[in-house]
Amino acid sequence: MTETGKVHLVGAGPGDLGLVTVRACELVASCEVLLFDNLVNSSLLERAGSDCELIDVGKAPGRHAMPQEEIAAILVKEARAGKRVVRLKGGDPFVFGRGGEEMTILRESGIPYEIVPGVTAALACAAYAEIPLTHREHGSSVSFLTGHEDVAKEALRVDFQKFATTGGTLCIYMGIGKLESILKELEKGGMCPDTPAAVVSQGTLERQRKVVSTLGSLLAQVNEAGLVAPAIVFVGAVVGLASERDWFSSRPLFGKKIAVTRARAQSAELKALLEQVGAEIVELPLLNVVPEVNKEIASEVFAGLGTYEWIVFTSINGVREFLTLFFRGFQDLRCLGPARIACVGKATAEELNRHHLQVDLVPKKATAENLAQALIESESLENANVLVVTGNRNRDVLVEMLEGIGHAIVDAMQVYATGFNHLKGSKEAERFCREGADAIVFASSSAVESFVEQQDDLALEKEAHKPIHCSIGPATSRTLKQNDLEVHLEASHANLPAVVEVLSQHFANLSE
Ligand code: SAH
Repeated sequence: MTETGKVHLVGAGPGDLGLVTVRACELVASCEVLLFDNLVNSSLLERAGSDCELIDVGKAPGRHAMPQEEIAAILVKEARAGKRVVRLKGGDPFVFGRGGEEMTILRESGIPYEIVPGVTAALACAAYAEIPLTHREHGSSVSFLTGHEDVAKEALRVDFQKFATTGGTLCIYMGIGKLESILKELEKGGMCPDTPAAVVSQGTLERQRKVVSTLGSLLAQVNEAGLVAPAIVFVGAVVGLASERDWFSSRPLFGKKIAVTRARAQSAELKALLEQVGAEIVELPLLNVVPEVNKEIASEVFAGLGTYEWIVFTSINGVREFLTLFFRGFQDLRCLGPARIACVGKATAEELNRHHLQVDLVPKKATAENLAQALIESESLENANVLVVTGNRNRDVLVEMLEGIGHAIVDAMQVYATGFNHLKGSKEAERFCREGADAIVFASSSAVESFVEQQDDLALEKEAHKPIHCSIGPATSRTLKQNDLEVHLEASHANLPAVVEVLSQHFANLSE
């Protein structure tokens, strides 16, 4: 007989991936069946294993949410089949999440279960909008209420008039559709129209918006601002402590859409850096990187590793692909031989460091010319064997300078190829055409060239959505200009933090 599996009722938090618990991440990554509904941030699902069965039980266009009994039946069935099941719910499973019903059925069916709490929307929205839920002087109790009226359950309706007299903080979930009647009820219950009140919509996401007002004026202001669900309504004296410019929305790129054009596998670092300062990312992977190597050259190079004076890396991809090939043939890092290591810039050096390789030479400015110059100045090239590990683009300058001025004997080993990723008809292209962006970042000349080639397929529906162009450095700027594209911003150094810095400064200046 199959051993019974286990069901985990797991809170997915309010939206920001950073607020998902470590336990939830572990379970999502290791479960065999995952049931989810309309999560505010579905990117958590990407962490599920490739053989995990994902079951969408939520509402979708033209489809009702799966009835609760059916969901429970799936949980029971899968667990009885011996599966590790995760039932993921927005926020916390026990706060307006019907986790209670599911737990009861599991208990009655004799299925083992575990419950993983999540950061519930009220707590998260309060923190991100600077509304301290309790305060020694302004509020000593907190109530979580639902504004959703279930006609079938008349008896469970919240008596807002009663809650008007608690003197504490009210957090009303699902209240935006019924805002008018909720506010009226609170006033009827004796709450003063001057009582501070706020609505936080799409809390913790880049799209978060809020209105801070009073009970009497909240409705008009929320309608004017056009706030949408999901949203939490806060009422109580503590709301008076919120400031218009809270920490979350005053980050330099908050509310800005930034298009990132790097290859998908390469964009994570830039995306993370931009998100940290509040940007919303529009992915536009104009390039793709694929391993590409000439086997004969590779075996010659690896056979002669001991003979090189220098091994030179021109990109992070180069490091990764080279070492992948290397470890296919060797078990021991020492087989790399006694060569010194040079690379084009800090980011590539960091990638080497991650593999426990120290770098002997990095030029001050990250260009192929500067790297060649620095090597030549090291006066160690004359008749020396040098291995240059590259992609298919932009390698000639380096090789020619090392051979010509430096009199070195250069072996160039291409380990990957960067190609144009054609986006026509893709979701990314559709989104870009529809929404545009505030800025588009080009981190290489090839990204510019791919953009130019695909300009017709990436034409914007509205001219007003046209992004400004941000270039990572002089070489990329040159390519932009050669293609009659304006360079609005250029990073002070050719690295990702400098790109984020120049964008932050630009948009911070605009909002002053
Ligand atoms: N179990 C969830 C609540 C589910 S009920 C939790 O603990 O958070 C759905 C309601 O939650 C929405 O109508 C809204 O009131 C609130 N909500 C969920 N995510 C939200 C978000 N990111 N911002 C604002 N409100 C949110």
